[in-house]
Amino acid sequence: MGSAVRLGRIFGIEIGIDYSWFLVFLLFTWTFAAVQFPMMVPHQTPATYWSMGVAASVLFFACVLAHELSHSVVSIRSGIPVRRIDLFLFGGMAQIARDADTPGQELRIAAAGPAASFVLGILLVVAADLVRPLAPLAAVLGFIGFLNVVLGGFNLLPGFPLDGGRILRALVWHFNRDRLRATRAAATSGKVVAYLLMLVGVYQIMLGNLIGGIWFILIGWFLVGAADSSYRQLVLERALKGVRVEEVMTGDPVTVDPDVPVELLVDQYFLRYRHGGFPVVDRAGHPLGLVELNAVRQIPRERWPYLTTSQVMEPDAEVDPDTPILQVLERIGQKRLLVVHEGALVGILSSSDLARFLHVHGVLGGVAGS
Ligand SMILES: [Zn+2]
Repeated sequence: MGSAVRLGRIFGIEIGIDYSWFLVFLLFTWTFAAVQFPMMVPHQTPATYWSMGVAASVLFFACVLAHELSHSVVSIRSGIPVRRIDLFLFGGMAQIARDADTPGQELRIAAAGPAASFVLGILLVVAADLVRPLAPLAAVLGFIGFLNVVLGGFNLLPGFPLDGGRILRALVWHFNRDRLRATRAAATSGKVVAYLLMLVGVYQIMLGNLIGGIWFILIGWFLVGAADSSYRQLVLERALKGVRVEEVMTGDPVTVDPDVPVELLVDQYFLRYRHGGFPVVDRAGHPLGLVELNAVRQIPRERWPYLTTSQVMEPDAEVDPDTPILQVLERIGQKRLLVVHEGALVGILSSSDLARFLHVHGVLGGVAGS
């Protein structure tokens, strides 16, 4: 998920907001200003309600961020770096660089978020009580305090990838000493939780609460996918731990000269070798770029004889053969990488190389459907 807007850094962690979050921000502000606060504090002007709505949304946003920061700080203290925190449609997600080393670490990192939400919730409710004469302010603080408690409680649902699912995984892992099986258990439990949430959604809709019901169904649907993909991610990480680019790449790839006309490129390369892309190298073997079938397809056929490969190639993305494969996983999902050592091309790396590697090592059965 590419974050759309960078907010800056806190404790060295980059904070990003996905576009979907702005939608939620508007929806929350509107719900607060038009529905929630008029109910809690009647007889105020629309301007007051909208100010309350915006203030409540900003405060809630800060609380979600505090929840994620709390996971992150405990993680960093355990020696596991955190690259980014992303805020998106369903809340926040700290991009913790790798899994915890021990069940105890995992438990502490997972529990830190809900703990922060509960503490914030209680503090805000107490603060609301202290400013009771200022009814609008008290309503904002009190309601966001209440939402924090709901947020903490929701996150404790025992299904991966929710915090409660991580706690469950840590416990199972502690008792049976097998992290993969613990993850499978937590992911299965996550799916059960997700389907139950969807059922609650259907029930809500039957009761006439359409918006609330749709939210439950959406969150459940998101969690089903997240439970699956976090399990697959773990299987993948296990299989690829310690593996370097050199072991996965296709070595000694077929290369193209930059002066080859595109017509010849199609006939002699794409149709002959059936690869989706070729490295373009000069006579000394230095890589110049990458030409991909998709790029050639966009050019009208009648122009093929008049263009050379160098005119349709793209700048290449290069990687060293010693790089751990886990570091480039995201990048090969998008395009081929040229493997370059001391200025010379030694291989090419694509997602099909990775698929083949996993297949040969008998991993793909465990991650089927990815
Ligand atoms: Zn959390």
